[in-house]
Amino acid sequence: MSRKNLIAGNWKMNTTASESVDLINEINSIVGQQTHTQVCICPPFTSLQKASGLVEQSAVSLGAQNMSAEPSGAFTGEISASMLRDLYVSYVILGHSERRQYFGETNQTINKKVLAATQNNLKPIYCIGETLEERESGKTLDVVRSQVREGLESYPVSEIDNLVMAYEPVWAIGTGKTATDEMAQEVHAFTRTLLSELFGDAPASSVRILYGGSMKPENAKGLLSQTDVDGGLIGGASLSAKSFCSIVEASINS
Ligand code: PEP
Repeated sequence: MSRKNLIAGNWKMNTTASESVDLINEINSIVGQQTHTQVCICPPFTSLQKASGLVEQSAVSLGAQNMSAEPSGAFTGEISASMLRDLYVSYVILGHSERRQYFGETNQTINKKVLAATQNNLKPIYCIGETLEERESGKTLDVVRSQVREGLESYPVSEIDNLVMAYEPVWAIGTGKTATDEMAQEVHAFTRTLLSELFGDAPASSVRILYGGSMKPENAKGLLSQTDVDGGLIGGASLSAKSFCSIVEASINS
C-alpha cells in the first residue's frame, strides 16, 4: 500500500495571527502548489481563521494543536471539534508530549479526544513516544504498546484512513538530539505491527506514521527514507519557511 508522506508543522505557542500571515504566505509560495507530499501547518488557535483563508487556494492543509473531547458547553477555555471544522481544519495533533507533561493528559483522556476528532471528520495526529528514562531502562516498546492500545481503544477500522500516528521520542523534542534512522524505523515498524493487531494488516498498512523530534533539513532525508517513516511532525524547524520547505523537498525526493 503506498502512503503519501505528510509533513506537518507544529508551531506550538509561537506567532501572533499577523505573524502567521507572513509565514503562511512564504510556505504557500514555495510548496503550496505541489501535491507529491501532503503539507499541513498547525498554528495556534488564534491564527486559524486567518490561516484558513490563506490556504484555501493552495495544497497546504490546516491543523490544530489540541482539541477538547467535549462537543460543547461549560468548559471554559476549551475548543471543540466542530469549532475547528467550521474553520476548515483537517488535522488535529493529539497527545503531544508537552500536553502529557504539562497538562496532565493520559492515554485515556487522549483516547476520548481521538474518538471525538474522528467522529467529527478531523484527522487525528496521535503522538506517542518514550522519555529518556524509559528508553534507557529498556521500556520503549512497552510504553509505545500501551500508548497505541489505550489511546486507540474503540477506534473504528472504518476510519483508519483518517488516522495519523506520530512517533516522537520525548528526549528528541526541541533538544537537537534526533533518533537515528534505525531507531526510528524500529519503533515505526513496531507501531505498525501493533496497528495490525488492532485493525488487520491491510488497514494498518495504510496508516501514516510520522517521525518527530528535532527533524531538520540536514537529517530529514535519512529519516524519511525509512520504510515505515511516512513523514514528519516538525516543531522548531517549522517556524522558518525555508527550513520547513526544505524538509518538504527532502520528503518529495525520499
Ligand atoms: C514537536 O514539538 O512535535 C517537535 C517535534 O518539536 P521539534 O521539531 O522542535 O523537536
